[in-house]
Amino acid sequence: MRGLVKYDKGVGFVGVRDVDMPSIHHPDEVLIKIKACGLCATDVHVWKDEFRSFPPVVLGHEFSGEIVDIGGNVKEFKIGDRVVAEPKTGSCGSCSVCREGKIQLCKHRKAPGWGINGGMTDYIVMPFNMLHIIPDKVDYDVAALCEPLSIVVHEVTERAGVQCSDVVLVIGSGSIGILSAFVAKSCGASKVIITGLNASESVRFPVAQSLGADEVINVEKDDVVKRVMEITNGKGADLIIESSGSTQGIINMPAMARIGGRITCIGLCKTDNASLLWNTAMYKALNLYFNFSSSYSAWDKALKLMETTEKNLRYMITNYESIDNWEKIFSSHYDENAVKVMFIPEDEICAYH
Ligand SMILES: [Zn+2]
Ligand SMILES: [Zn+2]
Repeated sequence: MRGLVKYDKGVGFVGVRDVDMPSIHHPDEVLIKIKACGLCATDVHVWKDEFRSFPPVVLGHEFSGEIVDIGGNVKEFKIGDRVVAEPKTGSCGSCSVCREGKIQLCKHRKAPGWGINGGMTDYIVMPFNMLHIIPDKVDYDVAALCEPLSIVVHEVTERAGVQCSDVVLVIGSGSIGILSAFVAKSCGASKVIITGLNASESVRFPVAQSLGADEVINVEKDDVVKRVMEITNGKGADLIIESSGSTQGIINMPAMARIGGRITCIGLCKTDNASLLWNTAMYKALNLYFNFSSSYSAWDKALKLMETTEKNLRYMITNYESIDNWEKIFSSHYDENAVKVMFIPEDEICAYH
C-alpha cells in the first residue's frame, strides 16, 4: 500500500512512499481500513519540522475507518464496525496524569501521524481501547472530524463550562474556531460572535455562519474591541474562545470579556511569551483556561453531537483529495478557500468526485 510519509528528520522529507501493510501483533489490536483522514495543522508542522516526529512515519491522526481484523482479546468491537480512534497511543497508563485519566497529557504519548504510523494511507493498526463506534447516521468523512470536534467539546463544555444563554466570542475562524462556534451554539449560547481576517470573508465566515455564528467581525476592517462591546451592549462576552494563536488577538481578550467572564485558549501561539491586558483581567476577576488535546468523554459527546445536530458538519469539508496532491494542499493549508481537507484512499475517492 502507499502512504504519505515523513521519511527523515528535518524540514521537508515528506512524500508518497510504499508502506508495508500493517498487521495485528498484539491481542488487544485491531486492523482498520481507512475511509477518510483530515489534514490538521499538526501534519503541516511535522512537514516543516515544527512539531516533533519519529520518521519514517505515516502522517495523519484525524481518521475514520472500518475494522477488518481483530486480535484475540478484543470483545467490545467486531469486524465491520465503523470506528474513529483517539490519538493517544503510547501513553504509559502508570504516571500520575494517566492515573488521573488524562492520558492525552502523558509525556510518553506517541500518537498516530508523528509517533506511530497514521491515517494518510489505506490501513492502520490501533489498540481497541482508543476506539469509538461511529453512529449509523454519520458518514465516514464527517466522522473524521471527530478528533478536532472532541478537542473543542472538551475545551468549551468540559473545561470552560459553556452555559445556555452565554454570549460567546470565538477568536479566529480556522477549523477549530468554526467548530467552537458550532459547539457553543449547540450548547445553547444566545449569541456567537466569530472573528477573522479579510481572507475569512469568502469561505470561512459563510461556513461559520452556517454552523452557528450569529455575527462575524473582520479584524482587518473593524475595531474588534469596539464591535464586541457594541454587540454585547457594553457588557463584554461571557465566554471567549481563543483559537487564533495571534498575539494581537490574545492581548485584547480581557477588554472584551464581561466582569467575571471566562477565557479558554486552544490556539498555539508563534511565540511562547504572548502578553495580555493583565490588570484588566485582574479587575474583572476573569477565569482563564488552557487546553491541550481531548478527554475520553469528549469523544462520545462529539459523536453524539454529530448524530443529533440539525446542522450539516460537511460544510466544514472544502476539499476531498488524494495523497498524491499532498504538496499543493500542504503548501496552501492556510489558503482562504479551504477549511478542512479530507484525504480519501485511492479506491474510495471516486465516491466523492
Ligand atoms: Zn488534529
Ligand atoms: Zn502516563
